[in-house]
Amino acid sequence: MTDPTAHAAPEVDFASLPLAAELLTNLDSLGYHAMTPIQAASLPAMLAGRDVIARGKTGSGKTAAFGLGLLSRLAVENFRVQSLVLCPTRELADQVAGELRRLARSLPNVKILTLCGGAPLGPQLNSLEHGAHVVVGTPGRVEEHLRKGSLSLADLTTLVLDEADRMLDMGFQEALESIVRETPASRQTLLFSATYADAVRPIAERMMREPLTVEVESTHDDASIRQHFFRVADEPARLAALCELLLHYRPVSSVVFCNTKIETREVAEALSAAGFSAVALHGDLEQRDRDETLVRFANKSVSVLVATDVAARGLDIDALDAVFNHQIARDLEVHVHRIGRTGRAGSRGVACTLVGVREDYRLAKLGDFLGQPLECEPLPTRRGSDATPFAAPMVTLQIDGGKKRKVRPGDILGALTGDGGIAGDAVGKIKVLERSAYIAVERGVADAALEQLKAGTLKGRSFRARRIGR
Ligand code: ADP
Ligand code: MG
Repeated sequence: MTDPTAHAAPEVDFASLPLAAELLTNLDSLGYHAMTPIQAASLPAMLAGRDVIARGKTGSGKTAAFGLGLLSRLAVENFRVQSLVLCPTRELADQVAGELRRLARSLPNVKILTLCGGAPLGPQLNSLEHGAHVVVGTPGRVEEHLRKGSLSLADLTTLVLDEADRMLDMGFQEALESIVRETPASRQTLLFSATYADAVRPIAERMMREPLTVEVESTHDDASIRQHFFRVADEPARLAALCELLLHYRPVSSVVFCNTKIETREVAEALSAAGFSAVALHGDLEQRDRDETLVRFANKSVSVLVATDVAARGLDIDALDAVFNHQIARDLEVHVHRIGRTGRAGSRGVACTLVGVREDYRLAKLGDFLGQPLECEPLPTRRGSDATPFAAPMVTLQIDGGKKRKVRPGDILGALTGDGGIAGDAVGKIKVLERSAYIAVERGVADAALEQLKAGTLKGRSFRARRIGR
């Protein structure tokens, strides 16, 4: 394979591709406004019918890349299996099938079927009798159906090997080869992986025809995150802009990054005064206060964490809906690291950066660093109903008893819900520490829950209880 390696392009609109109008409208409704780099690099060749080998990190948008490729080739009126996507595990196959269904929802009557091991054969046989356009499955089970004659790949036009390297690691090589033997030589073959192990190369050479190789080096996070930049004047306009963005995106959990400790305090105070559930996190906090802040953030009783980079280091938060940069980070790699904290685990995040008049040169430098021109957008316009600040959905209550007194989450839940207490589903995360415990409850029942805790007993004794924050 002596093929050129395509490089990641800057943001490009899907409309520049020869895609059906229904697909384009649907992409827009999914919030896919621009292609991710791997999509931009691979889709033109795929749509032109070429074989493609694409390597890009987890979260780079590979599913939609091959998904749009294969959906574009479907002849829906021909009710035969035309595309086969092989995945290493049932979980991944389910995810891929889900994404394909979302992508295909504007195309009437496209049938997508999963065939994975670990699921009973009967229903699969039944579904196969009814027919499908696209099959997503694991190699072992697909091979089994081919052997039984319950699946035919005679009309296949597109074969996708998703996470090809992992399939080889898992010992699926023979299954893959025997599946490929059942497909027409005229098929298009697409190979996607997060790492391109040497083991993949010989297989690719045998199965593919002059494939285009596409590699995208971006970290997995950049691709699923939409970055926005907003021009602001100096204080107080910067803070006002931050409030507007919070009101616009209304993230349940977000982090505002500041360059200094003092600023984290000022911003957190200003946001709290404006009615948001915001708390500062910086290096001067006592360990206890830091822990408490993180517990409150994780249990959704604080929705905005205003932090310095150092304080946020090692923060393990799995679902940040948004990251706001009060200024561009001094160090550009820090910027990339900051925005990498949103959009994790396949969920999309938004990253907003405020750019002051004296930060233009930094924006330009960041653009060079990211290899794409960055432009400021106007602040979102406010829609009437969204003008009120939002409180976090939960409130944290604390009791002065923990593991030392053998208090367990179940005891606390029992005390809260027993005897005319609050409903169990109004109770959120319960975190029991050595000498205290933090309990999240829905905001609307916080007062009742506090009374219930004060009045009741745990392990036969009463504890002091208090509410933390508003
Ligand atoms: P990969 O297979 O490369 O690990 P996925 O295909 O699972 O990544 O995509 C990661 C996330 O990015 C998914 O939540 C998907 O919905 C989203 N996504 C894919 N393409 C786009 C796009 N062009 N714009 C916005 N989000 C996208
Ligand atoms: Mg994937």
